Amino acid sequence: MRVVVEMPDWVEAEMARRPSVIPDLEERIRLVVELSRLNVEHDTGGPFGAAVFERDSGKLVSVGVNRVVPCSVSSAHAEFMALALAQQKLGTFDLSSPGLPAHQMVVNWRPCTMCYGAVIWSGVRSLALAGSGSAVEEITGFDEGPIADNWIEELNRRGIEVLDNQNREAALQVFRLFRDSGKLVYNATRD
Ligand SMILES: [Zn+2]
Repeated sequence: MRVVVEMPDWVEAEMARRPSVIPDLEERIRLVVELSRLNVEHDTGGPFGAAVFERDSGKLVSVGVNRVVPCSVSSAHAEFMALALAQQKLGTFDLSSPGLPAHQMVVNWRPCTMCYGAVIWSGVRSLALAGSGSAVEEITGFDEGPIADNWIEELNRRGIEVLDNQNREAALQVFRLFRDSGKLVYNATRD
């Protein structure tokens, strides 16, 4: 018995023509927003993109996009995909294992309830977001689940820095594109 969740075919070619080291945070944010947009345009999942970087050097370790519908796995969020790919590539479940550089997760929006936990368990030391808040739910209809008001504090307390609102408008544009595309909004608890 095994579980297989795969990234879409276009990602490899897309990443091959991009730099493998991105020192600038603004550029890292641009990449995940671009991944979210391409995922909508290719019709290969929801409007979410994520990446794991070596925090200080900017070396790109992995990328992820939302794959819930194509893979029939409700947990196949962009953050899950990027973290799993980074961990399997590095051969460890803990991205803060001794000897490893600090890692940063970059996402086009604040993680949902599930991915919030996944970020904590992953060992990343930094979380950078294009934006956060209820706008994603208002625009797309996705349910992000319950998140405590002190979510940033709780991450900080566990040694994870949070860099929020790095390019809110760019992320929102993709959510509007997704809404206007009329694609499936999966939401198991929706009325
Ligand atoms: Zn999620």
